[in-house]
Amino acid sequence: MRLVMLGTGGFIPTETAQTACYLLPEVGVMLDAGTGLYRTSRYLPEDSELDVFLSHAHGDHTEGLTWLFASFMLQELRMPGVDETAISGILDRSNARLHSVRVHATQSTVDALRAKFEAFHLDWRLLTSPEALPQGGRITHFSASQGDEVGFRLDWPGHSLAYVTDTTAGPDVKYIENIRGVDLLLHDCNGPDRMAGLMARISHSTPSAAALVAARAGVKRLVLIHHNPMNWSIEEDLGSARRIFANTEIGTDGMELEF
Ligand SMILES: [Zn+2]
Repeated sequence: MRLVMLGTGGFIPTETAQTACYLLPEVGVMLDAGTGLYRTSRYLPEDSELDVFLSHAHGDHTEGLTWLFASFMLQELRMPGVDETAISGILDRSNARLHSVRVHATQSTVDALRAKFEAFHLDWRLLTSPEALPQGGRITHFSASQGDEVGFRLDWPGHSLAYVTDTTAGPDVKYIENIRGVDLLLHDCNGPDRMAGLMARISHSTPSAAALVAARAGVKRLVLIHHNPMNWSIEEDLGSARRIFANTEIGTDGMELEF
């Protein structure tokens, strides 16, 4: 299955990294809806439904919901034969797709966002576990931090993915059991090892700490995401991280991963 990294940054978009958004085009599943969502029209099939799963309510994970309608419209406007007479049909179909988008989140996240995005008439759903996904898959969620953030695990026969963000990795984090053995782990990595103290205070992770979680959980591949916009390089720590968990790499916008 293919995963497209629409936004691998955190906090605020930069020239190289939009904020958190990850799309599985083959099944119409999106993990978080940061500013990277604006790239959706390039990847989501035009006849696809869309289920968005939100880890928490912060803007760098949710502001992109604003661009759903325009994304659907863009796909229509790129089709041949668009002219003045076609525009009302395009608006109707784009609105119909917008109103059919299911946004799955915890009660606290729905409470924080529903009024803000009321004008879009999205289909808000409270998270339950497990929930069925297309092609025989299922998604479960779990507490991933001391706060409201949840992580996700997606399983299909023969392949699996876990997504953990906005949390401080460590050898004893409780979610290790939730992500055990997945083929691909996307894990928060917001700053370098030398800033581990600050990362812990702001509920984020370093390369070596994320690698330790990957090793303890027995995953097959680790991709570091949620990069900082402050030029705090994590590349200097890639060697250290790979000594802990060899199959570690840094995710970037536009990267496509098979798992
Ligand atoms: Zn964030």
